[in-house]
Amino acid sequence: MRRVRGIIGEGKKACVQTFGCQQNEADSERLGGMLSEMGFEIIYDVKDADLILVNTCAVREHAELKALSITGQFKHLKDAKPSLLIGICGCMVTQEHRAGTIKHSYPYVDFLFGTSMLYKFPEILWDTLTKDKRQILWEDTGEGNIAEGLPVKREGGVKAWLSIMYGCNNFCTYCVVPYVRGRERSRRREDILAEARGLIAEGVQEITLLGQNVNSYGNDLGTEGDFADLLDDICRIDGDFRLRFMTSHPKDASRKLIDVMAANDKIEKHFHLPLQSGDDRVLKAMNRRYTRESYLSLVGYMREKMPEIAITTDIIVGFPGETEEEFENTLDMLRRVRFDNIYSFIYSKRRGTPAEKMSDQIPDWVKKDRFARLLKVQDEISIAKNGELVGKTVPVLVEGRSKTDPARLTGRTAGNKLVHFTGDDALIGTRIDLHITQAETHSLFGEREK
Ligand code: SAH
Ligand code: SF4
Repeated sequence: MRRVRGIIGEGKKACVQTFGCQQNEADSERLGGMLSEMGFEIIYDVKDADLILVNTCAVREHAELKALSITGQFKHLKDAKPSLLIGICGCMVTQEHRAGTIKHSYPYVDFLFGTSMLYKFPEILWDTLTKDKRQILWEDTGEGNIAEGLPVKREGGVKAWLSIMYGCNNFCTYCVVPYVRGRERSRRREDILAEARGLIAEGVQEITLLGQNVNSYGNDLGTEGDFADLLDDICRIDGDFRLRFMTSHPKDASRKLIDVMAANDKIEKHFHLPLQSGDDRVLKAMNRRYTRESYLSLVGYMREKMPEIAITTDIIVGFPGETEEEFENTLDMLRRVRFDNIYSFIYSKRRGTPAEKMSDQIPDWVKKDRFARLLKVQDEISIAKNGELVGKTVPVLVEGRSKTDPARLTGRTAGNKLVHFTGDDALIGTRIDLHITQAETHSLFGEREK
């Protein structure tokens, strides 16, 4: 990599805007790290920026439209300040048709690069500045690669993301991720352990291990052990820290992983296990490769080993061909499992995926109606599950001032539930015990123990 440390950014300000998942947030922290190394000051308001970089998402059309609309709004900033540099990266522009849209319809965008070229960002920027030519680096992600040692500008305070693998091999029929993120690549165990040790030494309290399917960690490495072994190794690092991980695919979540979780106090008792649909025919059409029964049996084992565990999930409504009865099977699974929380999505047709070509696409109004019914069922469950914590005292990691009520602080329980309480700024970044006094659908209220 060409070294451009501290040269091109000196005296300039850069703003990175991020859409999408935690993996994208982690990537943006690396882009921010590279920008800092190039001398840029990182800021959060595009109006003052000399460089704007948009890190995009492609999982649903809505996320793409938002990124395109934001990029459209930057035109007037560029008109007012022609030296402003605008770049687009991430999953959306890793698709050929979207790279083409940017190239042809957004002529004021100076550079564009796909997910597999993240590590080349300084070089791309250098070329943009010196070659007097737009740099449009669209390329199939193919096998992709892993670049170790990139600088990171972490945004999470006492919480940190740690990517353990990239890409996905699962090809769920609705999903664009395998196409825009390439095949599964696991980072080497010693690199992950070194990064975890560094974070813990810096005082990070909570590390979330990231991967599209963490359960298949190591499959491509051969001899180095699986995800459960990796978790065990990280837990052996000295220090008062906690671990989380996401996402786990139900077809690969092993009993061994659950046993390791149950045996380690450092692993928070929260499992995000995307169900997507509660109907076996739909699951098969989605290429998920598990059934209602195997899912329920996994949940049963988790609760047997860790009765206090919080379980959350992702649900898609309106997958092509989903009948009313099949949708009701999803509602039935919500009632049976009683998730602590769900992340629900209306099916969005993605270019190049097998589901795009399925003939029986569901009308919008049916999807919206099912979505509303799904939320209604879950809201009742969420509030009841949150209510079970009222009167209990639970440990909470204090994250900062509440966004909605600055008079309060907020923190997260082991199950990743948001708790609001009154307290002093000095508590931010510490783990304290809170007595839960009140429950709402999406949050809790608590008080410090007297
Ligand atoms: N690798 C993770 C999730 C990645 S995408 C996993 O397998 O669980 C995050 C969530 O977005 C998915 O769990 C799914 O619920 C949702 N999603 C993915 N593609 C979608 C699409 N085409 N339409 C609607 N929701 C989608
Ligand atoms: Fe997409 Fe399925 Fe891979 Fe998750 S496991 S990223 S839903 S293809």
